[in-house]
Amino acid sequence: MDVPKCSFCKSESMIRIPYSGHSFCRKHFLSMYRKRVRKYVARNRMAASGDVVGLALSGGKDSLAMTAMMHEIFGKRPNVKLVAITIDEGIRGYRRHTIRRAAAACKRLGIKHHVFSFREEFGITLDEIARDKKALGELTPCAFCGVLRRALINRAAIRLGFTKLASGHNLDDEAQSIIMSLMRGNDERLRRLGAKSGVASFPESFVQRIKPLRTTPERENMLFILLEGFEKDHHECPYAGLAFRNDVRKLINHIEERHAGVKYNLLNSFDRMILPVLKREWSGKAPKKCTKCGDPASGEICQACVMLDAIKKSKNERPSVKGK
Ligand code: SF4
Repeated sequence: MDVPKCSFCKSESMIRIPYSGHSFCRKHFLSMYRKRVRKYVARNRMAASGDVVGLALSGGKDSLAMTAMMHEIFGKRPNVKLVAITIDEGIRGYRRHTIRRAAAACKRLGIKHHVFSFREEFGITLDEIARDKKALGELTPCAFCGVLRRALINRAAIRLGFTKLASGHNLDDEAQSIIMSLMRGNDERLRRLGAKSGVASFPESFVQRIKPLRTTPERENMLFILLEGFEKDHHECPYAGLAFRNDVRKLINHIEERHAGVKYNLLNSFDRMILPVLKREWSGKAPKKCTKCGDPASGEICQACVMLDAIKKSKNERPSVKGK
């Protein structure tokens, strides 16, 4: 059987990318991948002299690829500092593996690495929250995980003095987030979906987010880290199947398979037609601060405090065991 050739040389190809119609050998895939990330980071001026850039490194494929690329781009710049943080939500049989991978990557790249846990910050693990049906109510463990993780990442970023915080969000994540926010009618969340997001006028309690891999498909991040020797095993979070995002992922992937390029088209249309309108509408509106913890909030109390209160209330309402 004939192996398809790379579209740019005579070597055998290792990946075909339907949205561009090209096939790539190892060398040309890596070159295309690096060029695209470098260009996106430069075009959006993601870091500058004097920045301390936090790398939100879960240890999954996307955050590993983001960390490796940020190290390639800024690692040798004496005036930009890179520091990685990992959040340990307390998910048995899963998070321990990804933390190990994150630590190994930081050791290899010579990047300082900090781990912050739900247990230490909030006094509870995600597994314990997932068992508390009363506290969860109609929500999935992922809803609690996402809100509390974002809150803890932000607190950690402020404590460590970061001026920017890079995440591993990829093209698939962004396309899903756009659809999810539209389906939920959540324009406050929609406006945070750009290459850079955050309340620049609110630096004491929020660190600006940057997304270096926002135009890179998930599948290409996976190939990049495999070729660069970062990951050989795969672990899936036991709660992943319960998330709303999972349904949206299946839907978009199904359409992309039949009509290659829809994820890019969705992102480009959003950036061109929706994001500027949302930014205009929200500009000048002073962000609120949570009256309980001081973190940024869309209402009086931030979502993390609402969830932590629900957990506390559920604990207090539990019948005490006789004799204890
Ligand atoms: Fe958290 Fe859900 Fe992601 Fe698991 S799948 S890490 S519970 S958001």
